[in-house]
Amino acid sequence: MREISRPRKRKHIAVDVEEVEVRSKYFKKDDKTVDLSKENKINKDVQNYDEVNINWIKTLKPIEYFGWIESKTCDDPRTWGRPITKEEMINDSGAEIPESFLPIYNRVRLMRSKVNTPVDAMGCSMIPVLVSNKCGIPREKIDPRNFRLQFLIGTMLSAQTRDERMAQAALNITEYCLNTLKIAEGITLDGLLKIDEPILANLIRCVSFYTRKANFIKRTAQLLVENFDSDIPYDIEGILSLPGVGPKMGYLTLQKGWGLIAGICVDVHVHRLCKMWNWVDPIKCKTAEHTRKELQVWLPHSLWYEINTVLVGFGQLICMARGKRCDLCLANDICNARNLKLIKSSKFHQLEHRGDIAKVYSHWLDTLTNGITTERHKKK
Ligand code: SF4
Repeated sequence: MREISRPRKRKHIAVDVEEVEVRSKYFKKDDKTVDLSKENKINKDVQNYDEVNINWIKTLKPIEYFGWIESKTCDDPRTWGRPITKEEMINDSGAEIPESFLPIYNRVRLMRSKVNTPVDAMGCSMIPVLVSNKCGIPREKIDPRNFRLQFLIGTMLSAQTRDERMAQAALNITEYCLNTLKIAEGITLDGLLKIDEPILANLIRCVSFYTRKANFIKRTAQLLVENFDSDIPYDIEGILSLPGVGPKMGYLTLQKGWGLIAGICVDVHVHRLCKMWNWVDPIKCKTAEHTRKELQVWLPHSLWYEINTVLVGFGQLICMARGKRCDLCLANDICNARNLKLIKSSKFHQLEHRGDIAKVYSHWLDTLTNGITTERHKKK
């Protein structure tokens, strides 16, 4: 007798997209082969390093320095509640902006203004201050030079690793510098030079490729002393000359270290979502680098920093690579990739997630109750 096929009950499993989607190629080779000579013309204007006076930044005291960096790279989710208007979407290249960009991006921004995601709490940008605070060092006591170094180390640790694990590894190194090496500032260049590589590897065991990363960090510390006046490089060529640092981390480090927006930081979430919404050519853009170059052609420079934080948090919590939450996504009325079955089933809180989605959920209910939503929502 034929068995009646029954629908399978599948348990939702949170998947680490970094580990699933990317098998790092650059970890297999040390040399940097990113061809910067082919960088498109549009970048030429924004890579005008005179806009950022590096010598002046080096003189800033902690409070002034952090104020400067925040003025260039705002991470406050509350600012994302205001929709971007068409008039603000000006790019220097005159390239056409995808029609779906503004409607989807404004909805995603709105959701991001209401949720706490791992990248907000423990992303690379947060790590130096978060870890220092945990070890009793207030932000105003962090030397900007050490901050830049700690940020760079955070980005190196973060490759193919969840933010939570990267934060733990950074904390382990800081505590070792404080307690064993007796360096009151936590992670410093001097401290990194003093830590033995096997000890460093052990301290960062919780991140992927920890032995390789320990080696990269040690070599980087040496290179910073020899070639960069014991500070981090202030141009992309310099950053990419460090072992284990690719364009994604490189552009982010320039943004957060010097306030220099010379390129978009495209990680797996930004790469995946931009292809999913057809903001870049999903066939041609095989790598994050392709996506970065294509995005930079039309995305207004004012959004080059923000788009990373907005989309990363969204990709971590609502539109994951596996287990998308189309049922509570505010873009589910216009998204080309929405899952209609899931929207109809409206499972809401039943599925697992990595952060606090209560505010998005309540906002969604509010929009339904107040009727400020689409026809399809109203029918439900
Ligand atoms: S795929 Fe689903 S969760 Fe992702 S943006 Fe579209 S509707 Fe939202």
